Amino acid sequence: MGIIQLMDEPLSNKIAAGEVVERPTSVVKELVENAIDAGSTAIEVLLVEAGLTSIQIVDNGAGMDADDALLSFSRHATSKIANEHDLFRIRTLGFRGEALASIASVSKVTLHTSNGENGTFVHMEGGRLIEQRVGSLRKGTDIKIDQLFFNTPARLKYMKTLQTELGHTIDLLNRFALSYPEISFKLLHDERVILQTSGSGEIKRVLADIYGVAIAKKMIPFEGESHDYKVSGFASLPEITRANKNYISLFVNGRWVKHYAIVNTVYRAYHTFLPLERQPIVVMNIKGDPYLTDVNVHPSKQQIRLSKEKELMDLIYETIQRTISAVVRAPIIDKPK
Ligand code: ADP
Ligand code: MG
Repeated sequence: MGIIQLMDEPLSNKIAAGEVVERPTSVVKELVENAIDAGSTAIEVLLVEAGLTSIQIVDNGAGMDADDALLSFSRHATSKIANEHDLFRIRTLGFRGEALASIASVSKVTLHTSNGENGTFVHMEGGRLIEQRVGSLRKGTDIKIDQLFFNTPARLKYMKTLQTELGHTIDLLNRFALSYPEISFKLLHDERVILQTSGSGEIKRVLADIYGVAIAKKMIPFEGESHDYKVSGFASLPEITRANKNYISLFVNGRWVKHYAIVNTVYRAYHTFLPLERQPIVVMNIKGDPYLTDVNVHPSKQQIRLSKEKELMDLIYETIQRTISAVVRAPIIDKPK
């Protein structure tokens, strides 16, 4: 007799959770992505103790019916892709079908969801179903994660201070708000409002909500287009600088990505205009056929591989340089008289 056995689902989910659910911020990221994919126009995030005690996300999106509400907690269960063809043309933030399964395996979850026709309540603990029953008819989804990592003490121990964990989540919500100005976001920590955006659709207003009106006024719009890509967004006047590159936010087809080479290209395009060792504030939306972008690189979906990368880099360099040199030459900068 062989000695190999297939793992049961809660166990394999818990292993997957090791990669997908690194800290409270990763939970917020996956749940907000789900709310966005469900077409929500208002998303509320409520944290208690930086999310370590609880994380609640309330959306007004499409919701789920009773069968889907249960199935959503199974690994590899997704409504977003159906075949290999779809995998190369991803238009949603999610597609791996493993976030809810992973999160549920390392926490206690209560889910209220309704598609407007019927409502469902689901309660899971450590990946096991505790209860499912009929629930309220309010259209949308309200999901609450209690006691994250209650059954993975080593991971819990690894958490940094509450302030550090909260800082990561605020940073994340800021990026979502910049990427989706048409969605109203609200973040509450221990009942205190940390961020609230109007959902007016104007990036400039979100910039003011996050960085303040004075800075938003000094951000100039840019736009550029090549054969395969379009870039647009806002770039700070050279007089507004920061000490690190964390203020260069990149969104590829709505997804916040970390891409060292693009950040570096933005910096190079600014270079001679900036004081030594200072960095600009930039919000850049990059649009291109999903076929040109591969987000299936890491479970966190924050890294991306791009086809026609050189074309995109040239476009970004040219667009930023043109934009900045135009305002520096025709001095819009208010200099003291
Ligand atoms: P993925 O987002 O990769 O599909 P998830 O585990 O995050 O995987 O979610 C599984 C499925 O549950 C989604 O494909 C979606 O159909 C459904 N779902 C999850 N969250 C929501 C939500 N807030 N509103 C509506 N449907 C949701
Ligand atoms: Mg998801």
